[in-house]
Amino acid sequence: MRYAPLGAEGQRRLAASRALICGCGALGSLLANTLVRSGVGKVRLVDRDFVELSNLHRQTLFDEADVAAGLPKAAAAAEKLRQINSSVEIEPIVAHVGPENVESLCQGVDAILDGTDNFETRYLLNDAAIHLNLPWVYGGCVGAEGQTMTILPGETGCLRCLLPECPPPGSTLTCDTAGVLAPIVGVIASIQAQEAIKILSGNRAAISRQLTVIDLWQNRFLQLDVHDLRDRADCPVCKQRQFVWLAGQQGSRAAVLCGRNAVQLTQPGPAVPLDELARRLEGLGRVTRNPFLLRLKVDDYELTLFPDGRAIILGTDDTAVARSVYAKYVGS
Ligand SMILES: [Zn+2]
Repeated sequence: MRYAPLGAEGQRRLAASRALICGCGALGSLLANTLVRSGVGKVRLVDRDFVELSNLHRQTLFDEADVAAGLPKAAAAAEKLRQINSSVEIEPIVAHVGPENVESLCQGVDAILDGTDNFETRYLLNDAAIHLNLPWVYGGCVGAEGQTMTILPGETGCLRCLLPECPPPGSTLTCDTAGVLAPIVGVIASIQAQEAIKILSGNRAAISRQLTVIDLWQNRFLQLDVHDLRDRADCPVCKQRQFVWLAGQQGSRAAVLCGRNAVQLTQPGPAVPLDELARRLEGLGRVTRNPFLLRLKVDDYELTLFPDGRAIILGTDDTAVARSVYAKYVGS
């Protein structure tokens, strides 16, 4: 409140605001931590994954106990965040963000923050944000490099103005192939969080009209002026209002998970009876169960099954192999 551009009125608006943080890994951990400590009224956290030891150097809301408990990231994060600031309403959702649920996840929020690790989800978020007229803050990191841009529908350019086509699978560096260092995550997430605070406190004039690209290893700090990007691009989303990602005309049902040697399969349909499945899988391998998931370790694979029909197959980055393992033990 003492910071004049924000002031008591800005803080009051923050307390009345609601944010969706999509993805609760490295960027999402820092975004949630900052927004909750800053007194945003409500934070909805969506993440499909569970905490692993290899996350801990950069995913600052988690610790070894969360790994041992096999907790989903959204649930583990919510527990920490409630201890940090009990006056903030935290809504954790363990789910994959797809065309079928993205707009309902955006319901009732004032801004969307990108904590995802893949372009498919970002293009989907971009469609949903423009369609629902919601500001969103893009961010991504790999290696020691990261970038961020704030998107105000109808005012600034969007992700597809910037990158008309989604990079094809295998064409970009990933955390799996290139690794990711913790400091760049801190820098990019902090810029995103500051942008969110400007949006949520009603300080639109202060919002960046630039694409910011930073490489902390090469010591490069680059800003590209994108204030007229929307006018220059004949964007299928902004200009033509064609939402192909939202319509499910783009995007797959299987996704390789960044940095994990794992594949996620999405099987829409009725809830999976995990207790029944656990009994069937007993004896095939090592079966463990907690309130959120069922896990089977068998051969060189670890299958984690969620009640909403999702499965994460650890031990392969080949979607065909993953489908085969899934079909073998779960059925399709
Ligand atoms: Zn656009």
